[in-house]
Amino acid sequence: MEIFFLGVGEACDTAHGNSSSLITTGNGLRILLDCGFSVPHQYFRIVEQPEQLDIIWISHFHGDHFLGLPLLFLRLWQLGRTRPLTIIGQKGIESKVKTVLDLAYPTFERKLSFSFDFHVLHAQSSISVAGLQWSAALTQHSQYNLGLLLEDGSSRLYYSGDGRAGRHARELIQGADFVIHESFSMVDTFPYHGSVTSTLQLAEELDVGRMALVHLDHELRRNELPAIEAMIQTVPHAFLPVAGNRITF
Ligand SMILES: [Zn+2]
Ligand SMILES: [Zn+2]
Repeated sequence: MEIFFLGVGEACDTAHGNSSSLITTGNGLRILLDCGFSVPHQYFRIVEQPEQLDIIWISHFHGDHFLGLPLLFLRLWQLGRTRPLTIIGQKGIESKVKTVLDLAYPTFERKLSFSFDFHVLHAQSSISVAGLQWSAALTQHSQYNLGLLLEDGSSRLYYSGDGRAGRHARELIQGADFVIHESFSMVDTFPYHGSVTSTLQLAEELDVGRMALVHLDHELRRNELPAIEAMIQTVPHAFLPVAGNRITF
């Protein structure tokens, strides 16, 4: 698989954008992991072909993870997309997506030149979509958030969305080749967020390949970057990506 980091920040990070990645699987499928406020601009800076995107995964219904969808759809329509777009997320995904589209651009859904193909993934379960295995675990977050394990037959990628990893998320992380994990604070301070410290602990305790720390509080990143980098350097294979980084594993 290949990961292109479109953004690595939290909701209010003006420098690093909302956390989102564009994945290319071993069989050439293109998957967008979350689509927050700032993501469409980042996405269309690098992708101009409207048919290139196959699937969107939405981890939860916080704005920095899904409120970029109306603009993404608008631009795909402008560019002339006709192929159905697959969207996967938790229960309620279809009504949420259609509601925000209607709020942003009323009656626009009727004009859309492409249709949606929705799939619901429940916590602690797996589905097969487009020849890929999708497994989800509930994380500890203030909204119902699903951590995702994506398998394409040769590689295993885990993406946390938001929230601290509990027992079920740890089971998915165990053995993953690549982990993208939110790390909002320096140590576990907020009950519904992970931290740099606890994410690095996951990397040490579980058998993972590489670990990317994203979704850091923008003030923490600005004020404590040298200390954070020093902590990350002590853990082999852990790193702090920035937007524009492209990793193949
Ligand atoms: Zn978030
Ligand atoms: Zn959130």
